[in-house]
Amino acid sequence: MGDTLAEARELATGLIGDQPDSWDRTGAIPDTLVRELGAKGVLCAEVPREFGGLGLSSLESGELTAYVGSLCSSLRSLMTSQGMAAWTISRIGGPWQRKQFLPALTGGELAAVAFSEPDAGSDLSAMETRIVLDGSSAVVDGTKVWITAAAYADVLVVFGRYGEGAAVVLVPASTPGVRIERIPDALGCRAAGHSVVGFDGVRVPAENVLPGAGQPPGLLVTTALSYGRMSVAWGCAGILRACLAASARHAATRRQFGSRLADHQLVARHLAELLVAEQSVTRACEHASRCWDEGSPEVVTASLLAKHVGATQAVRGAATAVQVLASAGARDGHAVARAHRDAKLMEIIEGSSEICQLALGEQALAVWA
Ligand code: FAD
Repeated sequence: MGDTLAEARELATGLIGDQPDSWDRTGAIPDTLVRELGAKGVLCAEVPREFGGLGLSSLESGELTAYVGSLCSSLRSLMTSQGMAAWTISRIGGPWQRKQFLPALTGGELAAVAFSEPDAGSDLSAMETRIVLDGSSAVVDGTKVWITAAAYADVLVVFGRYGEGAAVVLVPASTPGVRIERIPDALGCRAAGHSVVGFDGVRVPAENVLPGAGQPPGLLVTTALSYGRMSVAWGCAGILRACLAASARHAATRRQFGSRLADHQLVARHLAELLVAEQSVTRACEHASRCWDEGSPEVVTASLLAKHVGATQAVRGAATAVQVLASAGARDGHAVARAHRDAKLMEIIEGSSEICQLALGEQALAVWA
């Protein structure tokens, strides 16, 4: 393991400690802690060193994401949003925007990425949020829903309609006309700051609109989502690692019918399935990250596949872990109960399982028909 990755893991371990359960119950991670991790570059670890980042490869950053995800999916969700924001600015932004915003994101400021709207979930071509240029300003109007990290964010990366196409605009969360209303009762990842975000005639400098405005929405959205899928996939590997560890420890110590649970073959099968799931998801993530690091065009399919396999296996694996622990894992306060709730959301975000399957189905036809 590289020194930088090891140091980032150590920092995360020390700051997270045994707090994820209480964060889950209160629905919030202390702002100072998130900002400290952000200021050390841990939340968007792939940002190059010239912009204050850790400069990790996708593979290294993925391992860090899985590690944080094994401890706390809410914090991992904040990493995904921060990383996705930084990647969008790196990839689509011009030199001015990179210089202005990337050092802020590695210096303790926090970001959220907003695509979804009340009537535009899976179908982002139905977005209604408008970005209009007016002299030296850009004006944003619309409503975004379920925006992870928005309750913590200093800057919002907003996707919207622009003329006949789409654009991305960077909106400081403190701009007059921005309303952020936290969603208090999410099924899982309860401390991830999911919010409804309204924009009422919000004015920002025109240079906050990223280059390439007017392109089809799909092109812009895919850039951000590729990063998001990779990050969520690694997060799912983390969920499976937490579930595997908790299940193996419990099955090795709890005794029923005169022997360890692990000695009952049906329980051993649960452990085997968890191991297979964790290993398969890890291999799919590693492949996708290698494609990313090598700049291979295969990365689009590889990240979709990793995300789909990761999410479906995490849901199944977390349910299996609750089964192995039974009453010991059947209430708030146990990591497997939290994993069970958190994992289900992974099948909805960054392209639901069905949307991933549609894209993978097209790929199957293109390659195998
Ligand atoms: P819908 O699009 O209404 O879909 C409902 C169901 O129908 C799903 O099962 C879907 O798979 C299925 N379906 C839809 N179309 C098809 C089709 N053509 N074929 C087959 N099945 C189909 N959005 C952001 O912009 N930023 C965020 O940070 C963010 N974070 C989120 C965090 C959480 C915890 C959640 C729950 C959501 C988040 N979202 C975020 C929103 C998320 O991207 C959407 O919820 C997701 O795209 C699905 O949209 P929807 O919920 O409107 O479901």
